[in-house]
Order: sequence, then structure tokens, then C-alpha cells
Amino acid sequence: MTASRRARNLCVVAALAALVAAPVRAIAPQLPDIDRASVERVIRVLADDDMEGRSAFSPAAMRAAAFIAEEFADIGLEQVPGSEGYLQRFTAALRARGRGGRGGRGGGGGGAAGGGAAPAEEYELANVVGMISGNRSEEFVLFSAHYDHIGIRPGGEDMIANGANDNASGTTAVIELARYFKGRPKPERTLLFVAFTAEERGGFGSRHFSEQLDPDQIVAMFNIEMIGKPAVSGPNTAWITGFERSSFGEILQQAVEGTPYEFYADPYPDQNLFLRSDNATLARLGVPAHTISTTPIDVDPDYHQVTDHVETLDLDHMTDTIRAIAMAGATIVSGEATPTRVDPDSVRRRQDASVLLKLILSPEFEGRLG
Ligand SMILES: [Zn+2]
Repeated sequence: MTASRRARNLCVVAALAALVAAPVRAIAPQLPDIDRASVERVIRVLADDDMEGRSAFSPAAMRAAAFIAEEFADIGLEQVPGSEGYLQRFTAALRARGRGGRGGRGGGGGGAAGGGAAPAEEYELANVVGMISGNRSEEFVLFSAHYDHIGIRPGGEDMIANGANDNASGTTAVIELARYFKGRPKPERTLLFVAFTAEERGGFGSRHFSEQLDPDQIVAMFNIEMIGKPAVSGPNTAWITGFERSSFGEILQQAVEGTPYEFYADPYPDQNLFLRSDNATLARLGVPAHTISTTPIDVDPDYHQVTDHVETLDLDHMTDTIRAIAMAGATIVSGEATPTRVDPDSVRRRQDASVLLKLILSPEFEGRLG
């Protein structure tokens, strides 16, 4: 073969390759860009020892709230009516737990269940809320995570339960999703970004939040819990609690079709995870409110331990998961898709009673999903 013919043949091969490759590149959807460095910066602040494990009913939780509020301000989120500086403040009365007075386990405050004859005390709490107004001012899409954790665990050398996975990871996702959507054109629906307090302590934060607006106007709730470790089913997968209770999960699946990322039903149905996080509070009001997680909860040695550090997480996986959620939410944000409502009657009563009993009997009573 002469040099020129070889060159011509190479050209033909290159042209054919381009023909084959081009359509694939054009069709395969790309997950949106989320900055991994920003993810790492935010989660390291939230899970730092300075935050003392972010126990609700302690000043440390308020420090975490102040940091989240600063992030919301930097991003340029709007403030929600009734909040001050993005803080949705409220008080909750809490009775000391057991005989020994308060502060048994979490560095401030006892269990919400009360106990003995100890008088209830009032505590200052705060959710952090921010908003991006859409064209439809009465249709809300909620992205949420609890930012509190279990605080100080006396006993060992390391006494700070930093809660990097639970739930600095979800809180970081909410902040980065806010940054992402703020950089996009004005959405059709109005977006709310919420960091709840006191999920680990009786769900006061989500309950207070749910009383501040009409739940019928909340089109969907993306609650994010523990996305710092890949799921047992492998990377590029996340599960959704209560998958069958609305069409929320199917909508997310369709929205990421063609990408390497997949959403599927919660693989731990026996653990009743749908009822064990803040989404349940909204689901009881009919909202398609689901928790998205990737945590290998059945085999995770760091769950609710002082070892829940950033170093145990896979931040590439976490960033990919935030990207996938951003993309999965696109059709709901744009108004193209609307999930069916959850049947409130299916969430209440018998299941609640059995879960509550299990929790009360468990030594980890204060732990909900995480
Ligand atoms: Zn949690």
C-alpha cells in the first residue's frame, strides 16, 4: 500500500468512526455539572469537630444553621416569608428524659417522649429555608435534608459523632442543588431548599415547617439522607423510600434514562425507612415526599457512631449522586411531570404504631433513619 493510499484509508476509517461516534455523543444525556470541590468544602465544615456533632437543642446546631444560612446568602436564594436571615426560628418544649435529668446522650436535651415528672424546658430551634421563585408561585418543589445529628457520645477518645454521612452529606446536597438551580433559567415551579433541625430528636423541624405552608401546594419533596457511601447495589445507584406510594420514583427514573445513574426502590422494606425520616411528616399530609439515599445501612459500621467521618465517604460518588438528583428533578421543576399524591391514610396509624413501638423498645430510640 502506498503512503498516500494508506493516508486515504486512514481518513475513511476516521470518518466512519466519527459517523458512528457522533450520534452516540449527541444522544447520551450528560449529568449536570456539580462542583466536587464545593461539595468537599461544605461537607468538611458541617462535619468538622467544631460543630460538635450538631445536636439539636444545643448551640452547636445553631452554628451549623448559621453556616447553611451563609451558603444560602452566597448563592443568592430568596428568603421565605416568616424567616429571618434564612432561619425559620421556633421553640420546642422538651421534657428531660429519665431520672438523671437532661443531656443523657446527645450533649443537650433529652428525648421527645418525656419521662418522669421533670418539667419541660423551652429550646430555641431553627430550620434553614431558602427559595427560588418560579413562574408558578403556588406550586412548590422541596429539596430537603436534616442537618442535625446526635452530638457528643461520651466514652471513647473520640467523643464527637460528626455525622458526615448522616446527614452532612444530604445537607451538602441541598446546598449544591440550590447553587445549581440558581444558575439555571427561572424555573416553572417555585423551589424551596430546606435544612431541617431535630430529625434525630423527634422530627420537630419538619413538623414546624409543614405547618407554615399549605401542603397541597407542595408538588414533590426530595428528602436526601446519607448519600456519602455507595449503595450495596453499586456505584451510580440510589434508592427511594416508599417507591410504590406515588409516581415520584418513576418520574426520577425516566428523567435520568440513558445516563449511567439509576434510581430504584428502597432495598430494605423491613426497616420501614419511609416512615423514619422527615419525608414522613409531609407524606402524612398527602405530599409525594420521599427520601433518596445510597447508604448501605444494613452493613455500615459507622452509622450513628463517632466514626462517621468525611474520610469514610466516597466524595466522587456523592457528587455524582447530587448530579443525578439535579437531573432527576428536572421534569418536576419544569412542570412537565407531576407525581401522584401519597394516600395519607396509608401512611398513618397501624404502621406508625408498630414502628413507634420498635423505636421505643430500641436502645437507639432517638435515631430515626439516621
Ligand atoms: Zn439522618
